[in-house]
Amino acid sequence: MTTKPPVIWLNVAIFSLSFILAAVVTPWFGWHFGFGAEHWVWLIVCFSFCNLSITMGYHRLWSHKTFEAHWLVRLLCALGGAFALQNSALHWSSDHRVHHKFVDQNDKDPYSAKKGFWYSHIGWMLRHYNQAVYDDYSNCRDLQKDKIVMWQHRYYVPLAVLMNIGVPLLLGVIYNDIIGMLLMVGAVRLVLNHHTTFFINSLAHIWGSQPYTNKNTARDNGVLAFFTFGEGYHNYHHIFENDYRNGIYWWQYDPTKWLIKACSWVGLTKKLRKAPPLKIEKARAQMALVYVQSRILSLPNHVVLMNSFQNEFDAFMSELHNYYDIKRQLLESKKNLAFKKYERSMLKVRYEQVKLDFVEKRNRWNRIVSQYA
Ligand SMILES: [Zn+2]
Ligand SMILES: [Zn+2]
Repeated sequence: MTTKPPVIWLNVAIFSLSFILAAVVTPWFGWHFGFGAEHWVWLIVCFSFCNLSITMGYHRLWSHKTFEAHWLVRLLCALGGAFALQNSALHWSSDHRVHHKFVDQNDKDPYSAKKGFWYSHIGWMLRHYNQAVYDDYSNCRDLQKDKIVMWQHRYYVPLAVLMNIGVPLLLGVIYNDIIGMLLMVGAVRLVLNHHTTFFINSLAHIWGSQPYTNKNTARDNGVLAFFTFGEGYHNYHHIFENDYRNGIYWWQYDPTKWLIKACSWVGLTKKLRKAPPLKIEKARAQMALVYVQSRILSLPNHVVLMNSFQNEFDAFMSELHNYYDIKRQLLESKKNLAFKKYERSMLKVRYEQVKLDFVEKRNRWNRIVSQYA
């Protein structure tokens, strides 16, 4: 029998105490003394500030370098991250980079979903499972050059105390209800912050669809995206981790993406990275192929169906490549001044034709795939 690593009592105390305060003491307090609109408003404001600091700062900026940010944005994310009480940005990013590199490998992924819901959600933080590499930040040398990251890492404990006790206390003094604010903005907010983020490691690797890859357990889940400021599109994220977006379609709820984009309009963020559309469409089509093939297999005429389906896929792929190829040529011609005007207009005409063919093939492909949905 293998003995389990020692318990991290500080984490156990923080998680259980905040949970009891939020789930038992707060309702009791509210029943007896009531909460005003100010409690709810500040709960939402602080919850959003903390969660966005994690999604925009810890995750998409520092862990994945999907954009560059002004020092003011980095400072706010460092403060909000300490408020969210999820360790320093350096530590969080280091763990997260290992998670992506070795996803689902039980011996390496710090919160491997293959070890079950409880372990990936919170269990991994309750014992010294990763003690051997706890202070190893060699996979974050780039972040060690960021003065704000290092400042937050160095003063993480006082910053965390200042934010978690100081902010609710200040609000309590302003609104003349110290206990009420400590409960709502302190405990309830913290528990919500913790578990919505933890759901990405647990539920987003269990519940949802796999439109882009089935090589790992990550799932796309619109419900989770709603509670996690867009991080629920985790299947996409695990294959295109360098994209600043997680929900790539305009209708997908990804407020973190909108915030990063909006900040770029006023110069607070720049160099926003996106995955190439060709790669995205290819991954999607390949997964659809895998999915439909598995559905066809049980049908009596599966050999014939399989062949015709493969042909449709190949035709779509070749049209896909044609389209992105000519699109690239057209873009290059716009940058190249030596390009003759009539040559460019010829290219434009060809582009429009290829685009029509491509859209038609894509619609046809989507229709066929949807028959097997
Ligand atoms: Zn990630
Ligand atoms: Zn993940």
